[in-house]
Amino acid sequence: MIIVASSNGKVGISAAMRVLRNGGSAIDAVEAGIRLVESNPQDKTVGLGGIPNLLGEVELDASIMDGQTLAAGAVGALQGYEHPISIARKVMEELPHVLLVGSGAERFAAEMGFDRRELLTEEAKEVWEERLHKAIPETMLANLKEEPALRQWVKRVRESPWAGGTVNFLAQDADGNICAGVSTSGQGWKYPGRVGDSPLIGAGNYADNRYGAAACTGLGEMAILAGTARSVVLYLKMGLPLEEAGRQAMKDLHALASLYPGTMNIVALDKDGRHAAFSNREEAVYIYMTGETDEPEELPRVLVPTGENNRRG
Ligand code: ASP
Repeated sequence: MIIVASSNGKVGISAAMRVLRNGGSAIDAVEAGIRLVESNPQDKTVGLGGIPNLLGEVELDASIMDGQTLAAGAVGALQGYEHPISIARKVMEELPHVLLVGSGAERFAAEMGFDRRELLTEEAKEVWEERLHKAIPETMLANLKEEPALRQWVKRVRESPWAGGTVNFLAQDADGNICAGVSTSGQGWKYPGRVGDSPLIGAGNYADNRYGAAACTGLGEMAILAGTARSVVLYLKMGLPLEEAGRQAMKDLHALASLYPGTMNIVALDKDGRHAAFSNREEAVYIYMTGETDEPEELPRVLVPTGENNRRG
């Protein structure tokens, strides 16, 4: 039994391991761990307290993939629900679809009995407003919702500095089944409706019992364009050891370096429970817990430069 997570998963990893120790499945453990991160208002990049989009709306993305069946569920640009990971799980279990976005995802959440709530905390609102006031003229701010050329402000507001973050959980249960889960509020000050890599199976999340699993945080556009999570699993399938599979998936990002010179981080697990994580940023870490450990352990990620200064993320 093992759980691997991005370092902001610390608030949920022990609960996730308890689920496994009590005989729960990898899917149950991933959901339980991520829900605690989503409820943590101190985390400005996931669930409650996430930094909103350009218009001040908290829009959440999440996905979950079952490595045993290869079923997956995901939601994107979801507003007003604290636990997108649980809604993603319901998409996987209740619908003949993989991904729901926006109002359709919200309608489905209501149908499944999830409670609505305001996700924009005072603290996140202050951070959001401060940046807007610095980057956008006061006269424009008053009518931002009606602004016909909202696109012109996205680059200016979003990149000074770029703000984002995501939680990744990978679990392997006592039966050897693997699950991967991802949840995020995406990039702060993003264009409304922007969806990142997190709810896209193959980009930010992939799990297959036969080979392993991977999940990403960082500049989602990069993982979307390179199919990063699926790449790791495909390299495992091709017979590469875990560390080499992760390195290769990171090196694939070289081709995007001039277009998207951003941060990318991967956590990965192979079918035998070996784990590793990768980053193009120095001193990045990840955490893990096994059935034998009482506390999460922190380990360095393997540094794999992707070709440019990491301006964003
Ligand atoms: N990957 C997320 C996104 O692009 C954000 C992040 O992890 O920083 O939406």
